[in-house]
Amino acid sequence: MRFSKMFLPTLKDAPSDAEVISHRLMVRAGMIRKVASGIYNYLPLGLRVIRKVENIVREEMNRAGAQEVSMPMVIPSELWQESGRWDVYGKELLRIKDRHQRGFCLGPTHEEVITDMVRREIRSYRELPINLYQIQTKFRDEIRPRFGLMRGREFIMKDAYSFHATEEDAEKEYQNMYDTYCRIFERCGLKFRAVEAETGPIGGRFSHEFMVLAATGEDSIASCSKCNYAANVERAETKIEGLGVKGQEEKRPLEKISTPGMKTVDEVSKFLKTIPQKLIKTLIYNSDKGVVAALVRGDYEINETKLKRTLDAEWLNLADEETVRKITNAPSGFAGPVGLPTKIFADYSIQTVVNAVTGANEADAHLVNVNPDLNFTVSSFGDLRMVVAGDLCPRCTDGKLEIFRGIEVGHVFKLGTKYSEAMNASFLNEKGEEKPLIMGCYGIGIGRTAAASIEQNHDEHGILWPMALAPFQVHLIPVNVKDKATLDAAENIYTNLLNAGLDVLMDDRDERAGIKFNDADIIGIPIRLTIGNKTLKENRVELKMRNRQEASLVKLDDVAKRVRIEARQFWNIS
Ligand code: ATP
Ligand code: MG
Repeated sequence: MRFSKMFLPTLKDAPSDAEVISHRLMVRAGMIRKVASGIYNYLPLGLRVIRKVENIVREEMNRAGAQEVSMPMVIPSELWQESGRWDVYGKELLRIKDRHQRGFCLGPTHEEVITDMVRREIRSYRELPINLYQIQTKFRDEIRPRFGLMRGREFIMKDAYSFHATEEDAEKEYQNMYDTYCRIFERCGLKFRAVEAETGPIGGRFSHEFMVLAATGEDSIASCSKCNYAANVERAETKIEGLGVKGQEEKRPLEKISTPGMKTVDEVSKFLKTIPQKLIKTLIYNSDKGVVAALVRGDYEINETKLKRTLDAEWLNLADEETVRKITNAPSGFAGPVGLPTKIFADYSIQTVVNAVTGANEADAHLVNVNPDLNFTVSSFGDLRMVVAGDLCPRCTDGKLEIFRGIEVGHVFKLGTKYSEAMNASFLNEKGEEKPLIMGCYGIGIGRTAAASIEQNHDEHGILWPMALAPFQVHLIPVNVKDKATLDAAENIYTNLLNAGLDVLMDDRDERAGIKFNDADIIGIPIRLTIGNKTLKENRVELKMRNRQEASLVKLDDVAKRVRIEARQFWNIS
């Protein structure tokens, strides 16, 4: 491709709303342009990268035995009503009406459509298993679209769905997809980890997220320093053993003290000259299971995902000020477990506190010397807190948890019969009995994967594409196109490289060298060939890898061969 002909508008500066490096560089490199919040045009350079990711995904999915299909983006509401999700999916589901006032939505995911498709055709266990996937545009009306392609409203996803006659077979396919995802992200040149993820109401141990390690990631991952335990912090478990050990202090009588305006753990512990570990935090939650109180030690935080799971709740929110007042007779900040009318769920950490400080359920007052069992009753103890760095690993004996940031690029999930039961998708087993299909689903964010690659591969000047995702393999720069010898040599190399099957971008613009080199750095093509009249007189051109400092001179006759070698070596090291 000739730069002079290509629609490749590079920019010196990034737009002010671009917070993360991948978003800034994608805009500056002329890969994407915003149309509306979370909705983008992919320009030619951007689309080339998207296609590279898609092709890797497609090749590996096919190799794993999955078959590509294509489902509509506009989905009739009836299907979503059948699964029960029409009412619970919330505002992320963009609902629309056609000219006959019939309800539709823009597909944010396709369990309903595929279950409907398969239930109409599959009759017997003999036709199972099958794994069908598509690479397609999704729409989710995200509350906070941001970071460019990383969290868009419209985005491209590979979504696969498998159907099975037995649990064992579904689990085998889960492993097959897990291994396939590892190959895909390895081929993309990403540093990633597969972590245990929250399974929501379905439960079970078959859900992993594939996380690209990056400081800008929106997710936190807990990972053991010794064994291979790794989990999304939403799910990461705390080690329970040893927590039952109480302090040796003698229990003292309950006392109420005045704490005017002291609401936070910090304020209260400073005011009372104690430590956060002596405080019990009381949080009031509203949920579909009613109003409940959750307790955690002052130095920890409640993990709402764990609390939700404990309550078996569909939804859960911190209660508003009005509810807090109604339940505690006090403004928020002074809630405590003593005399509370709601059910109380306590984290195991509470078992370690003796003579605790809590809110008094009265404005500007706290209680001291509060002791569980003696002064209040806990409905149930459980693992309800967020893990913190340094926590003991829940799986091995002496490992400690470390916390990393990550970008979720893929998710594999065993669904079981959630959709097949709701939508009556069944098959006849070997004994001729009708059974619901057992399902799995497997997603990869295509644009997010490209963005995650930039988060891991860039420097202060621009992108450093790994060969596998690079929009072109070679960036050819004739320094001065007005010089006939330079241009002729460049044209010659250009043709030779194309004939050798390489993707080449030739910067044939009549621009200053500085501008061309800057653009080359921003765009980040792995191999740069520079043709200047000085080196040309010695029949040589300059070869520089984008991820290395030093350049070398290559004989004109050897260019195609050297480029092929570099491309292969680059592949090995990236
Ligand atoms: P998140 O927690 O980041 O919102 P999710 O759990 O909702 O993601 P899934 O429903 O599992 O995501 O979707 C599968 C994949 O699609 C994700 O792993 C991610 O790579 C991608 N994805 C999801 N939402 C978006 C989005 N808003 N923009 C870009 N990619 C997305
Ligand atoms: Mg989401």
